[in-house]
Amino acid sequence: MMEINPCNSHVNGGSSIPSKVSRKTKPDDTIVDINGIKVGGSEIIVIAGPCAIESREQLFNTARSVKTGGAKILRGGAFKPRSSPYNFQGMGEEGLKLLDIIRKETGLPVVTEVMDTRQVELVSGYADMLQIGSRNMQNFPLLKEAGMCRKPILLKRGMMSTIEEFLLAAEYILNQGNDQIILCERGIRTFETSTRNTLDLSAVPMLKRLTHLPVIIDPSHGTGLRWMVPAMAKAAVAVGADGLIMEVHYKPEEALCDGQQSLNPDEFDRLMLDLKKIAQAVGREISLPAHPSV
Ligand code: PEP
Ligand code: MN
Repeated sequence: MMEINPCNSHVNGGSSIPSKVSRKTKPDDTIVDINGIKVGGSEIIVIAGPCAIESREQLFNTARSVKTGGAKILRGGAFKPRSSPYNFQGMGEEGLKLLDIIRKETGLPVVTEVMDTRQVELVSGYADMLQIGSRNMQNFPLLKEAGMCRKPILLKRGMMSTIEEFLLAAEYILNQGNDQIILCERGIRTFETSTRNTLDLSAVPMLKRLTHLPVIIDPSHGTGLRWMVPAMAKAAVAVGADGLIMEVHYKPEEALCDGQQSLNPDEFDRLMLDLKKIAQAVGREISLPAHPSV
């Protein structure tokens, strides 16, 4: 019997794009539904919150402020992948419990990282969407486990991964029957050191051409620099991203993790107003809550 090649060849530097993620297999955009919030349609969805959940006060104050600013989904890490084992590793299940409380209060769905196959069940019990981080993009057992759970998955591009490897990682999840996947470009490693990573904005039009899955940008990890986040966030909307994920902290100077790249609530509010204008200019929408000062 003839073997069926699971990859569709695309004329793209000779790479071959796996079939389930391919736009050739499914021409229409996939809409990912995170408890009623739809990513991949005409509205650009902003996910915001702290890098790590540090305390009740920190999470709750930040969550309330990003909701007022127009975020539609709350982020916050309970299990943190830190380069040094001596750095704050996250609050673990305590953090997940706090997320659950604030999600009920604000009505914002929550996304949080899962680092290990053994955490998938626990994290799925609290989160509306599971994040697979850059360092785990090619953790194949984790991708398979995530594919078996029935929660949407936010898959971040590996910092050393090609677009093809990124799509193959998504294919692992899809192959288990879970098509609720959002792809996130978060910067790649290059020779440049003035920014934390090199944010590959060209990944957006490339991915949108190759796959039906929604694509979002993380300008926080992509630059590592708070002052640069607004510029790159605006550029991301202009190049066709379906959403953004950004770190916001109610007191960035006191953050235990990634404070130097976290916006404060005022900066976030201002950025959302600018993003709305850019969204309109490119035929998309960002809906903001009624704001007393606007
Ligand atoms: C994060 O979003 O908290 C994170 C650790 O991101 P990345 O995996 O992209 O480094
Ligand atoms: Mn971070």
